[in-house]
Amino acid sequence: MVTRRESLLKEAIANGYNPSVEGLRDTEYPQLKEVTYLDHAGTTLYATSLIHSFSKELCENLYGNPHSPSPSSQQTTKRLDDIRHRVLRLFNADPEQFDIVFCANATAGMKLVLEAFTAQKGGFEYRYHLDAHTSLVGMRELASEATCFSSDAEVEIWLKGLCEDLPGLFGWPAQSNFSGRRLPRDWAAKLRNNRSGWYSLLDAAALVTSAPLDLSNARAAPDFTVLSFYKMFGFPDLGALIIRKDSADILKSRRYFGGGTVDAVGSRAGNFHARKADSIHAHLEDGTSAFHSILSLDTAISTHERLYGSFDNISRHAFSLIQVIHGLLGELTHGNGRKLCKIYVQGGITSSVTQGPIVAFNMQRADGSWIGYAEVEKLASVKNIHIRTGALCNPGGIEASVGLEPWEIEQNFLAGHRCWDQQDVMHGKPTGAIRVSLGAMSTIDDLMVFVKFLEEFYIDKEPGSSALLVPVGKPDAVVDSLTIYPIKSCGGFKIPPGECWEIRPHGFAWDREWCLVHLGTGSVIDQKRYNKMALIRPRVDPTSGYLVVHLHNSSVAPLKVPLSLTPSPSCALKSSQSRVCGDKIAALTYTSPHITDFFTSAIGIPCTLARFPAASENRHFKPHLKESSFVQGGGDRFAPILLSNESPILLINSSSVDKLNETISCSGGKLAKPEVFRGNIVIRETAGIRRAYAEDFWKHVKIGREYFRLLGPCRRCHMVCVDQETAEKDEEPYVTLTKTRRIDGRVLFGQHAVHLPLKNGDGVPRIRVGDAVRVWQDGDGEEVDEGCLASRTGVA
Ligand SMILES: *Cc1c(COP(=O)(O)O)cnc(C)c1O
Repeated sequence: MVTRRESLLKEAIANGYNPSVEGLRDTEYPQLKEVTYLDHAGTTLYATSLIHSFSKELCENLYGNPHSPSPSSQQTTKRLDDIRHRVLRLFNADPEQFDIVFCANATAGMKLVLEAFTAQKGGFEYRYHLDAHTSLVGMRELASEATCFSSDAEVEIWLKGLCEDLPGLFGWPAQSNFSGRRLPRDWAAKLRNNRSGWYSLLDAAALVTSAPLDLSNARAAPDFTVLSFYKMFGFPDLGALIIRKDSADILKSRRYFGGGTVDAVGSRAGNFHARKADSIHAHLEDGTSAFHSILSLDTAISTHERLYGSFDNISRHAFSLIQVIHGLLGELTHGNGRKLCKIYVQGGITSSVTQGPIVAFNMQRADGSWIGYAEVEKLASVKNIHIRTGALCNPGGIEASVGLEPWEIEQNFLAGHRCWDQQDVMHGKPTGAIRVSLGAMSTIDDLMVFVKFLEEFYIDKEPGSSALLVPVGKPDAVVDSLTIYPIKSCGGFKIPPGECWEIRPHGFAWDREWCLVHLGTGSVIDQKRYNKMALIRPRVDPTSGYLVVHLHNSSVAPLKVPLSLTPSPSCALKSSQSRVCGDKIAALTYTSPHITDFFTSAIGIPCTLARFPAASENRHFKPHLKESSFVQGGGDRFAPILLSNESPILLINSSSVDKLNETISCSGGKLAKPEVFRGNIVIRETAGIRRAYAEDFWKHVKIGREYFRLLGPCRRCHMVCVDQETAEKDEEPYVTLTKTRRIDGRVLFGQHAVHLPLKNGDGVPRIRVGDAVRVWQDGDGEEVDEGCLASRTGVA
């Protein structure tokens, strides 16, 4: 019997797939073991032998700074000249007709061109294509006039039209980094023939990953072509601007000069300087060039040729794979017949002339609602599948594919959406997409892993099987444990049984009073990124007046920090600006070296302790769930809620943890301890059947003498995979949660809650382990009247 893989393989080979790539993976790309890397448009990967031979070359040679006469310097200069020649040849560019300027990346190449155009008297006119990368779009900000073409047809019509007066620049990508579409390249020649005063700028950064760039016909070539070498070879991090010499004069109007680009310069009198005239690159490469990186290009080109032959071969290989993935994604169908993927293609996958190895898409549930890409990204990361999601630095791609209008993008922005955040579906439309991109070392198995992943987690097999909530009656329960997290994202401090713990307006006393901030960026750091934070175990000791911080499994002496805000000689504080989730907040940072050193060595990055004084009202609250994101239940529980990712209080029902673990144990996965959910209150049902997820329907709970309102479910990320005891990471329980608790695109577990203070309450509100829990839920006819509650009447 022919397996699915075999038949796909046969078809792919017929279309140019190179099966010998599979044999390279173990030796040349050992990093890819157990990893599915599908982000070659981000960067392709370097071969191990490239790194080895380049490091050998560095060790065996002495390369000096290229700008001087010493032997080591001359050694470098000589090699750079050869490499410049070799790179031009790689693109079939005749060194008589073209010059190449090495720069940091493709974007830097664009900015060099831009600098010259902005120096034109009277400015310049700029036109760009809708498929442009943000780097190309941003150039419009310096143009005196800018226009975006929405289609190829608009470009063609314009190319036939009359000339305008201003000098002009037209920029377009050779390949969209969003959809993989390859755009016409004959526009350069048409522009040159029809529009004097206009220059062409081709962004080849996405194209060169998987296709040859051919500049053999200088008359038809773009005036300026930019690209990045890491996208071709995975290494070095270097870019280039390739200039058609006949069009180079305009670049000389650039005003700046820097080390290396002048022959003579006077510092004081007048403005005397003489620019280097011998070559265009000498005129444009400011400062010392990235000479080690340029040197490595030689090895990078040789290695790539040895492994893959030519970029033509890579193009065929990658194109055969994009055909396979398109086919597979297009076949994925829910039980009710609805297709899973909405693939964004412009024109069809018919030829590598018009399509590169990129596919962008979004997914829909069986009911037609969108599956948020942020959720997909998180789960893929847990499964070691590397994809790119979001707006993909290609605003035009999103606008055109998803059908977002510019005003909607603006509206989403005003509603708080940022390019990198979690708001993946707004007003019923995705704010971005999922991108899979392939390269020279991609294999058919990479695709099979990815498609199997989508099948496993996103296909609704039975029609209407998405109801995951289990409504049930009222439990009798008690408080099983109380935990606070004095330092945000660090280990929890379990309140000793029997001890009453105070509840303050912002939550439990001392809960998330402190945090750790990165000394370089000032940003608050979290356990999602720095798992080791789980090993930092703070304990609040009100009796002695100290926060005592232990390092778990370490012989380092505990750190003692006064609870008092008054600075002391051993504990210096300074006010500072910090950031949580991108928003500025005021904090007090601890500057004493013993404190900074303690946390810096504990986590291994430069960081220190900071404090948000509870008294001040600068606590960070951020919308966490949107009303529209949770349709189930209705009622005030899902009304607009303002919560931070540190909501006042988080409640966990141990029956739900048990239920989750039952499912995990069926697949043999690692069971979840309740601690991974980092709740403040864990409750345990004491009578009757265990009602997993009953908390989804609770509206109010009374614990001891105190009332709480439940605000809504807590959205989870893969941080629940960090074992809070060992700081080690597993794929569970996140993987099972996504299968059983993904509701409307969000993985939910636990309930946010807020304490309801009693207006004439006698004494300080407190609860403790063992307190009885009573529950009010939707539809049980009995309500907690919060108005009455506030004056302590009416509620039993
Ligand atoms: C990657 C990319 C860029 C940006 O390249 P940098 O190296 O980051 O400057 C620009 N345009 C396209 C089409 C790209 O794919």
